[in-house]
Amino acid sequence: MPERPATTDQSGTSPTGGPGGASGGAPLTAALDIGGTKIAAALVTAGGEVVARARRPTPATPHAAEVQAAVTACLRELAGHPGWRRVTALGVCSAGPVDRARGTASPVNIPAWRDHPLLRNLGEVPGLPELAGLRTVFAGDAVAMTAAEHRYGAARGHADALCMVVSTGVGAGLVLDGRVRPGPTGNAGHLGHVSVDLAGEPCPCGSRGCLERLASGGAITRHALALGWRPAPGAESGTASVAAAAREGDTAALAAFDRAARALAAGIAGCSTLLELEVAVLGGGVMHASDLLLPAVKQHLDEYAALPFARIQIKAAALGTDAGLIGAAALAQTAGTAGTAETPETV
Ligand SMILES: [Zn+2]
Repeated sequence: MPERPATTDQSGTSPTGGPGGASGGAPLTAALDIGGTKIAAALVTAGGEVVARARRPTPATPHAAEVQAAVTACLRELAGHPGWRRVTALGVCSAGPVDRARGTASPVNIPAWRDHPLLRNLGEVPGLPELAGLRTVFAGDAVAMTAAEHRYGAARGHADALCMVVSTGVGAGLVLDGRVRPGPTGNAGHLGHVSVDLAGEPCPCGSRGCLERLASGGAITRHALALGWRPAPGAESGTASVAAAAREGDTAALAAFDRAARALAAGIAGCSTLLELEVAVLGGGVMHASDLLLPAVKQHLDEYAALPFARIQIKAAALGTDAGLIGAAALAQTAGTAGTAETPETV
């Protein structure tokens, strides 16, 4: 990937949305965020404002074409919006792993897609030939979230940052020297599959003791159950229920969150020790329990990030569930070459 000089947003709009809204004639970016639960598409202004959106559940199917059809349905719905004619770029992000160089996706949580030629298919959608002509950027969803938080959110103004999505899985991306660094295939910063427990349980990725196996929503719930926590009658057996119990002082629930926080702290400390990062931004569904998680992560960081240069600020993400869409759009807006995923991010 050739290096590009850092560029600034030339739209003239403010970072939080401004004159480039749907009512104006300013260019828009189409964004696509493909996850294991849902597929979302949006039209996004140069200022990061979502002005139209479409959404479909991700089909639970072994057939790649059925998942692709849901993607196409989202884009067709979006194309019905009057702003579609002002679309000048397409930003695509997907659950990983992705291979942005080849334009393929193999999301762990979408088994129907293995080396799925997503970008090629997007250029061949019947009835939407304009897609093939758009400047298109492809990234992993955590990299897109990182771009969004760096440009508009909690990592704004930081030259070196780690941004994490703690949810069904644990994803992460890096900002280094002021730019999002996706790596050659788009998976750099994949902290969820770094081992923080040498003798830990096997992970589907092939390693063992991965951070994701300790800190994901499912891991928190499984650990709480193993320690004897049980959901209240009629309540869901999910992370939100574990969090509710922890807030009431349930020792098993508290221990499950504490173990997740310790794992996150160890992972973050490893990154900050390697890279001298300024901030770690934590987002994703599990951060609905940020009141439990953030103080515990900060406490354990004192233990793991012991060297002075490894000290790192911890912040909650600012952009919520739209971060993938907004970040994919931001990456597309700042990219230079069709079909590649250059990421000259600036603040
Ligand atoms: Zn793993």
